[in-house]
Amino acid sequence: MAQYDYDLFVIGAGSGGVRAARLAAELGARVGIAEEYRIGGTCVIRGCVPKKLLVYGSHYRTEFADARGYGWTCNDLRFDWPTLIGNVRREVDRLNGVYTRTLERAGVARFMTHAVLEDAHMVHLGAGNAGVSAKTILIATGSHPMVPEFPGREHVISSNQCFELEQLPGSIVIIGAGYIGMEFASIFRGCGVAVTVLYRGNQVLRDFDGDLRDGLAEALRNRGIDLRMDTDVASVEKERDCYRVHLKRGGSVSADLVMVATGRVPTTSSLELERVGVALGPNGEIVVDEFSKTSVENIYAVGDVTDRKNLTPVAIHDANAFAETLFNNKPTPVDYSFIPTAVFSEPEIGTVGLSEEKARGTGAAIDIYKTSFRPLRSMVSGRDEKMLMKLVIDMKTDRVLGVHILGPDAAEIVQMAAIALRLGVTKAELDKTMALHPSAAEELVTLRHKWEAPTPVAGSDAAA
Ligand SMILES: Cc1cc2nc3c(=O)[nH]c(=O)nc-3n(C[C@H](O)[C@H](O)[C@H](O)COP(=O)(O)OP(=O)(O)OC[C@H]3O[C@@H](n4cnc5c(N)ncnc54)[C@H](O)[C@@H]3O)c2cc1C
Repeated sequence: MAQYDYDLFVIGAGSGGVRAARLAAELGARVGIAEEYRIGGTCVIRGCVPKKLLVYGSHYRTEFADARGYGWTCNDLRFDWPTLIGNVRREVDRLNGVYTRTLERAGVARFMTHAVLEDAHMVHLGAGNAGVSAKTILIATGSHPMVPEFPGREHVISSNQCFELEQLPGSIVIIGAGYIGMEFASIFRGCGVAVTVLYRGNQVLRDFDGDLRDGLAEALRNRGIDLRMDTDVASVEKERDCYRVHLKRGGSVSADLVMVATGRVPTTSSLELERVGVALGPNGEIVVDEFSKTSVENIYAVGDVTDRKNLTPVAIHDANAFAETLFNNKPTPVDYSFIPTAVFSEPEIGTVGLSEEKARGTGAAIDIYKTSFRPLRSMVSGRDEKMLMKLVIDMKTDRVLGVHILGPDAAEIVQMAAIALRLGVTKAELDKTMALHPSAAEELVTLRHKWEAPTPVAGSDAAA
C-alpha cells in the first residue's frame, strides 16, 4: 500500500498550480489539488484575461473617434457596461470550465476548499473534507491585492471588485500607478469615466524605462486622465453620494468610486507555514531555490507566491520546470532571462530586457537608439499621439540589451523581439534584417542614428 494518499498535492489551482498538477498527472503521478475560490486562478478569473477583454471593449472609444478621418460617420454611439461585463463573465465561466475539464481528464482529484499545511506531508482541507497526505507538496497560492493602512480603507475596492461592478461609476479615483493602475485608468477612461490617479512617487510605472514612463504619462494626460504624482493619500471618507479622498499635503478629491492598485502580496499568511518550517522572505513570499524548492525538502512553491516575477507565463514556466524536475527525471532550473512584459494601457507598452537606467546601473557602456513618430494610421485619423521605440545596446558586444515600445501593438511586437534578444541578437543583425513596410515595427530594424543627450545651452537650464 502506498505510504501517502498522493504523490503530489497542489494548493491553489491558478496558472502555476493547474499546469503543475496536469503535467505531473500526465507523467504518471497520483495528484490532488485544492482550490478555495475558482479553478483558473487570478489570470483567468480576475486578472489577465477578463482585464484584456475590458481593454478591448474600452478601445472602441478611440476606434470610433479615429474612424471619422477615414470617412465613417458614427452617430448615436452608446456604451452599455452591463453588456460588456456580462459577456466578459461568460467568457470567464467558459475558461473556468476548460481548466476544470483539463484537470478532470488528467485524473487530478479536486477539492474545492481552503487548504492549510498540517506538517511536511499532511494537508488539512476545510469544508468537511478529511486531511490528505502527500509525498510532495506544491504551494501555488498566488498573491492578492494589498490595501494600504489608512482611515477609510474599508471604502475602497481593488482590481478584484472591478470585475464585479454592476454599474459603471461616473468618476473614479485610482490610488497607485503601477501596471494594474495604468490599465484600469485606461479602461475606465475608455468607457467614459472621469479618472483621477493619485501616486506618491514622481512618475508612473516605477522600474520601467524612463522614456516609456514619461511618454505614457503624457499620453494619458492628453486622453483626459488626471494624473497626480507626489500625492499621498491620508484617508478616504464616505459622503452622502460619493467618496472623498483626503490628501496628505492638504486638499481632497471626490469620486463615485475609489480603487487601490498599490501592489500585491503573496498569499501565505493563512497557510500556517511557520508550523512546518517553510522560510518566508520580508514580503511574506516563500523563499525557494532555482528548482522552486522551499526550505523544507519535500515542499515546493511556484508562481506569485514566491514573488519572483509575477506574471502568468512565469508561473507556468515555474510549474513546467517543477514537473520536469520531479516527475520526469530532468532537473530543470527556472530561467528568467528576457521576460517580455506589457502594460495594456491606452496607448500600450511592450518591453523586454534592460531599461536604459538599469543598463547604466550595471556599469556597462551603452548606446541608445530611439525614435518617436506619429504612426501612419494617425496621419489620416488626425490623432496627435506619438509612438516611441527604443533600443538599448551594449557598446562592447553590440548585443541588444533592451527593447522598449509605447504605442499601438507594442505587446505583439515585443513578443517577437524577445525571441531575438534571447538568441543574443546584435544591433548589426537588426540592421541587416529586411524591413516590413509599411509597419511600425520596421522602425526597429531601420534605426541608424545613436541618440545623443542634448547639450545644455550655456546660460540656460533649458534642454535643447
Ligand atoms: C488585474 C490583474 C491583471 C493581470 N494582468 C496580467 C497580464 O496581463 N499578464 C500577465 O502575465 N500577468 C498578469 N497578471 C498577473 C497574473 O494573473 C499572475 O501572475 C498569475 O495569475 C499567477 O499565477 P499563480 O498560479 O501564481 O497564482 P494564482 O493564479 O493567483 O492562483 C492562486 C490560486 O490559489 C488559490 N488559493 C490561495 N490560497 C489558497 C488556499 N489556502 N487553499 C486553496 N486555494 C488557495 C486562489 O484562490 C487562486 O485561485 C495580472 C494580475 C492581476 C491581478
